[in-house]
Amino acid sequence: MLEAVTDPEIPVLSVVDMGIIRAVRIDETGLPNRPAVEITITPTYTGCPAMDVINTSIRLALIEGGITKHQIKTVLYPAWSTDWITESGKQKLKAYGIAPPQAKSTAPTMNLTEAEETIQCPQCNSTDTKLISRFGSTACKALYQCQDCKEPFDYFKCH
Ligand SMILES: [Zn+2]
Repeated sequence: MLEAVTDPEIPVLSVVDMGIIRAVRIDETGLPNRPAVEITITPTYTGCPAMDVINTSIRLALIEGGITKHQIKTVLYPAWSTDWITESGKQKLKAYGIAPPQAKSTAPTMNLTEAEETIQCPQCNSTDTKLISRFGSTACKALYQCQDCKEPFDYFKCH
């Protein structure tokens, strides 16, 4: 059910791909005062307006799936990191035309600024790309342009 709930800003990614589902607990005691399903989520960006939409979408998906007794818990620590996006999620991002965030561990050097980071073009895989704006279509993304195929593209910023 959760795999059918997508990110409002990136409709190809499910909340599972995004790595925001921390835990799913199913209560089998059947006690009337307990939620049958408890889902723990960690928001991607604190204060990101998309999170309210995601919350509502999760509730709707559960109700449609017949789970009316549910509870969604929000946990802020540890903070969500782009490293939590699944491998298949990163593939889907790239196929959608957004350069996936680079894993922090494999980033060339930790003290490089965003402008100096090598970001691969999701269209032609060229690494000859240029930062155009630190903010792309949303605050979570930066706008880049490929110097080879000339295509502008969003890069999902690491954090
Ligand atoms: Zn390109």
